[in-house]
This record gives sequence, C-alpha cells and structure tokens, in this order.
Amino acid sequence: MSAALTAPAIKPWPLPREDWLIANLDRVCSAIRQAEGGARHRLKDVRLLSPIANPGKIIGAPVNYRAHLDEANADQQISAGTTVKTIDHYGLFLKANSSLVGPAEGVMLGLKSRRNDHEGELVVVIGRACRNIQEANALDYVAGYCAGLDMTVRGVEERSLRKSLDSYTVLGPWLTTADEVDDPGDLLIHLEVNGEVRQHCSTAHLIFSVKRLIAYASAFYSLYPGDVIMTGTPAGVGPVTAGDTISLTIDKLGAMDVAVR
Ligand code: MN
Repeated sequence: MSAALTAPAIKPWPLPREDWLIANLDRVCSAIRQAEGGARHRLKDVRLLSPIANPGKIIGAPVNYRAHLDEANADQQISAGTTVKTIDHYGLFLKANSSLVGPAEGVMLGLKSRRNDHEGELVVVIGRACRNIQEANALDYVAGYCAGLDMTVRGVEERSLRKSLDSYTVLGPWLTTADEVDDPGDLLIHLEVNGEVRQHCSTAHLIFSVKRLIAYASAFYSLYPGDVIMTGTPAGVGPVTAGDTISLTIDKLGAMDVAVR
C-alpha cells in the first residue's frame, strides 16, 4: 500500500483543496502580460471551457432576489406546491463539482420529463483562503467574477440534487479579475433564450449582497482559492428544451452563448 501511494504516477496526492490556477493568479496574470504580442485567436475559433477548472466547492444562494421569490410563489412548477421563502430562511447549498462545464460544452438536459430551467447569475470566485471574515473586508478575498448558469430541474427534491446534474453549472465566458469590477452590486444581468429576453435585472437588487454572501459562507465553510459562489438568480426563470440557445450577458464580465442539447 505505502509503495503504491508513493509511486510517482499518482503524485501529487492528496490534492490541495484549491484551484491551482486561481491560487497562483498573480503569477498567471504576469505570465499572460509577458505573452502579449503572441499568437491571437478569434473568439469564435476557440472553445471556452470553465474559467475555474477545479473549484473546491460550488456554493449556491437560494432565492436571493425578491422578485424571484414572488414569481416562485406564483408558479406551482417552481414552488412545487410549497411556500417559498428567502435566503434568510434557507441559507446556502452546494452543487456537485461534476456539474461544472464551460460555455462551449453546453448543457445536456437530464430528466427530460421534468421542467428544466435556466437561472442566470453573477458568480464570485474566491482568491484567498479565509474563514469567519467580516462583511466590511469580504471583497479583499475575491479573485474575480464571471457569469454563471445555475441550471435547475424543478421538483420537490433538495436543491443540491436538482441543480447538480452533469453540465448544470456553466461558468464563463472567462474570469474578470476583481480589479476590473469596482462594484459587484451594480451589474446588469441579461439573459435571452433564442433571442427572447427572459431575465434583465441589476445585482443592486440582491437580498444578500456579494459582501454579505462571502462573509456568511465563511461562517460555515472555510473558503479556498477557486471556490465559487453563485449569487442567486433574478426573476424571469423559465424552461429550456433541446435545441435552445441561452445567451447570458453581465456588465463588465462579457457574454456567452450556451447550447442546450
Ligand atoms: Mn440559482
């Protein structure tokens, strides 16, 4: 056994609970700057994968916009016959890391007999390890931001299960470093399905702000570089079916088209 564990083929082991690229982001960014002048590719010629390859955990924020609470309670297919409350009541949930894909990979629907919804969300990527931090300095621990789809099977099971199917977490189009986003509480989220506007709302309407979400999460979990916090979806969630294209744009973070299969 010990010989097997020290075999070079399986080193390094155990892996750290962090994403290597995010933990070394300063070095990665300076290497990128030095590479300027190298080969350039058109966006349409590259396949965009998830900007975070190996998050230690993917944290979700349930019902974090008031208008989404109202639509959930007005639609039995969203509320599954229950009275939906806000994030103050539910806290947070975790999505399986195996659900993670990038925009080029697209969403492969599972449980096709059930309703499968898009949820467009601002996503925070943690840059430094932390635990029990205060709201006031929470943004000091952010590596950057991206757009995210928290795909959801509607039904009565725990959120963690219904939102963890393979390909049900889409992050992209890339990571925007924190220095380029002055205020994550003032970004417009815009989502279309096949060109029809479904979601259009500013992160100013978050019930738990980005700062509060980070501080709150850190009271329960140690946070590590590369951990992802999906901040919750505004109103306008709705079903998608195979053949649809979801287009998600967030101010300052870019736009991504995601195919549904
Ligand atoms: Mn969500």
